[in-house]
Amino acid sequence: MVALAQTSGDGFVDKLVIHSPSSGELLGEAPVQSADDVKAAVARARKAQVAWGALSVKERCSALRAFRHKVAQNAEELARAVSSENGKPVQEALTHDILPFCDLMAYFETRAPRILAPQSISLHLMMQRRSYLHCVPRGVLGIIGPWNFPFSIPVGDAIMALFAGNATVIKPSEVTPLIALKAKALWDEACKNEPRLHPDLIQIVTGRGLTGAALCTAGVDQVMFTGSVPTGRKVAVACAEQLIPCVLELGGINPAIVTADTDLERTAHAILWGAFANSGQVCASISRVYVERSIAEALTNRVVDLVATLQQGDPLDPDTELGAMTFMPQIAIGQAVMADTLAQGGRLRCGGEPNGRYFPPTIFDNVQHGWQITQDESFSPLLAFIAVDDVETAIRFANDSDKGLMAYVFAGDEEQGARIAERLEAGTTMVNNAVDSHGAAGTPWQGMKQSGLGQVHSAQGLRDLCQVRHVQTRSWLPWMSKELWWYPYSPRIYGAFVTAVKTLWGGGVVDRAARLIGK
Ligand code: NDP
Repeated sequence: MVALAQTSGDGFVDKLVIHSPSSGELLGEAPVQSADDVKAAVARARKAQVAWGALSVKERCSALRAFRHKVAQNAEELARAVSSENGKPVQEALTHDILPFCDLMAYFETRAPRILAPQSISLHLMMQRRSYLHCVPRGVLGIIGPWNFPFSIPVGDAIMALFAGNATVIKPSEVTPLIALKAKALWDEACKNEPRLHPDLIQIVTGRGLTGAALCTAGVDQVMFTGSVPTGRKVAVACAEQLIPCVLELGGINPAIVTADTDLERTAHAILWGAFANSGQVCASISRVYVERSIAEALTNRVVDLVATLQQGDPLDPDTELGAMTFMPQIAIGQAVMADTLAQGGRLRCGGEPNGRYFPPTIFDNVQHGWQITQDESFSPLLAFIAVDDVETAIRFANDSDKGLMAYVFAGDEEQGARIAERLEAGTTMVNNAVDSHGAAGTPWQGMKQSGLGQVHSAQGLRDLCQVRHVQTRSWLPWMSKELWWYPYSPRIYGAFVTAVKTLWGGGVVDRAARLIGK
């Protein structure tokens, strides 16, 4: 198979020329937009946001339904578009990109009004007052997306921003801009049926890294970035210079711990899917399996046997389970990690060299923790089995990483699994499951260590897309013309405060009160 260049040129010049990673067919072109184009998009978004942000959350939720209907009604066409441009099997395009997006919309349509409602704060020191938090849209959010989930990530982030009352400008990956433009066309159609929606609330700016960098400095109020650690760091610096917040969802090198009493069959199937879905081009992919020595051989053999049943081929064929690699340079990264593993003495159990864009599922055992395959994200279908003497060693190795996105535990006893999970340094740890928690809109999606900052999805993720402002009022003791600690100061008032501090917090009143209420 001939290696296909998907895009051409560099900088702000030229255009993006997109070919299907699997067939090489020309799919379309997209402009490379300049810094001025990006600024103009942000200005249009800011104008549209005024009326949108003034709607109640309930009104926004009911208006956004029109877009959900459009996406769901066009689900097959969208899935085929994702599959053609990205190379993932059409079933994955449907179930990983389109289906969870529709559910995310439905989830927040019914819950956003409650999540974003004012929240009162129970006060302690100043209990005569009333405090509450209220959520105000930030304004215009810049959203920068990766190529591996070209629909569900950038468009999902944009929709969450819209629930929170913001407008958005999306910069899709240069590798997969067409699906974002398709989403935009559906958005524009939804706007025709629903007058409360405005086309400028979702805008797309296409281009390469420079266009993404321009978006970060185009006057946006927050950036939501999903991509690699090095680019995430650049985005964080750009945001820090302007003192604007950013949410960063970055890479992972995700461990799985397998205890000797695990259900071997479920574990093998979970690891198979968790490592090879989307050809391992998933930030949450299982990359390194720390398995208790007594079952290491049996588990590895079973996963290797299951690999032989997978069908790799045309991603548009619904029977296909493994498609083509999306991004040519990723293949070279996978090959380099593979070469290092072989050189170190890893045993290749299946797979190996790619055939053009088709990278077979590749499994190594006899791997030692500390080799590159256990340290660096290859973002390709590589899986390492590392036999360990006990669970404590597995936990130590799993945590020995500069990344902390996802972790997995497979254990016969779910309670024991949960105890292990609580000790793993990851944003999410799944017990006896793999990879798909991004699909549960109510749960946070977040990375620890270098895997990210902040979170998306979940109630907190939605609130984070607002300015959460604090209001404090004087609710009782209205007859007091001033508070005790205001001017004038005097030795008498100073003495009264000294007595109060000693009596209340020095082991007396507050401790007795805590004992009385059992705390
Ligand atoms: P990149 O970091 O290469 O690119 C991500 C986005 O940033 C692209 O749109 C890219 O544009 C853009 N970009 C490039 N340079 C800049 C810049 N200087 N300023 C602003 N934006 C810029 O990541 P990939 O697209 O290769 O995605 C793969 C990575 O994403 C993996 O590390 C994976 O783990 C991670 N990821 C993390 C997820 C998570 O939720 N934690 C989910 C999915 C992926 P262009 O493509 O045009 O260069």
